Amino acid sequence: MIYIHIPFCRSFCTYCDFYSEAVPGCAGSRKAEFEQGLFLKYQNALCAEILSRRSEITSEINTLYIGGGTPSVLPPSFFEAVLEALNHAGVRTDFDEFTVEVNPEDVVEKGEEYIRALARMGVNRISMGVQSFDDGILKWMNRRHNAQTARRAYEIIESAGMDNISIDLIFGLGQLSPDRWEDTVHQALAISSVGKMPSHVSAYQLSVEPGSMLAEFVRRGTFREASQEECRLQYDILCRVLKEAGYHHYEISNFSLPGKEAVHNSAYWEHVPYSGFGPGAHSFLLSEDSDNQPVIMRKWNKSDLKAYLDYFCRTGERGDCADSSISVNTLDSVNPVVGSETLTKDQYDLETLMLSLRTSKGVDEGFLRAHSDSRALEKMISCGCLVPAMNGRIRIPEESFFISDGIIAEIA
Ligand code: SF4
Repeated sequence: MIYIHIPFCRSFCTYCDFYSEAVPGCAGSRKAEFEQGLFLKYQNALCAEILSRRSEITSEINTLYIGGGTPSVLPPSFFEAVLEALNHAGVRTDFDEFTVEVNPEDVVEKGEEYIRALARMGVNRISMGVQSFDDGILKWMNRRHNAQTARRAYEIIESAGMDNISIDLIFGLGQLSPDRWEDTVHQALAISSVGKMPSHVSAYQLSVEPGSMLAEFVRRGTFREASQEECRLQYDILCRVLKEAGYHHYEISNFSLPGKEAVHNSAYWEHVPYSGFGPGAHSFLLSEDSDNQPVIMRKWNKSDLKAYLDYFCRTGERGDCADSSISVNTLDSVNPVVGSETLTKDQYDLETLMLSLRTSKGVDEGFLRAHSDSRALEKMISCGCLVPAMNGRIRIPEESFFISDGIIAEIA
């Protein structure tokens, strides 16, 4: 499982705290040149990082997810270079699932050929950040598209032959009435111009993240956070409408048509190891020490593009990634862009428990009993906050997903 982070956005959205740098677009040729140079430099650094860490890439689940930031600001040649680097690193690039995140305005600007070029490289899943179909809310979010652009982008993606399309929505805004939200969810299902529903919907509750523009709005008193009751109502509407439309609610924030669950993201919730590349990307690695004892490690690249470029481009400004000769051991000892922590087996088991309970599959009952407070567990079972699932597992029922954090905190 491989994640690649693209740390560029054309502008910053009100609510967002993902790591990214502004590349405001190319009004003039000097700007265009600067941008192309920056993208090429990043491409070379990324390829160098991939090659330097080749020994840690696991192929237990063969997926590639390119997220951000805004990957769709980049040209197809960027993705081709990344695939070439992965190939050089010994990774099978016929991925079972290959997802690229896109923003609607890029798709409309670049057109059908852009999506076709991605498809030719093996991209078989597109995840598009739509967030809302209410132009007033999209403007407040500082998104660069409106509802019409989102529909047009979807049409382009479909007519390029892509049929596995996920869209993201956001709820939990103070200014979002239940009717407006229900209308948004219905519009999401009707986004296709040929009448096909999106194969996947992710819907996230707005949260005020420190350092975001939204946190500043709250501090200034210009934004009212929705109450938990309002958020609960909106979440219930989401679950009801998508259930009636035939979607499988397989994770707290994720819904799919049958068989279209996200393979890559599902593996995160099953605590499968993965390698993340690019500034701000995290990796989760399982290995053994010299005494054959398990080593469970999380490591991450600092959210600092400049430090990342300085470090990985030192192999040469042209960054011929095929010639990179940095060994993973060298990197681990001197790399200024990596932080890491080693997890104990207890921490790992606790994380497994928490991640599994986010899903409709739930967690193995024996594992749950071995890793939770027995009195709290019985209390949660007797009040129906935990119920039997398939294959000897226990899950949080859909009607209690909204309070899952409290349930998990109670038993863990
Ligand atoms: S939501 Fe997406 S497009 Fe907006 S700032 Fe965050 S990463 Fe960039």
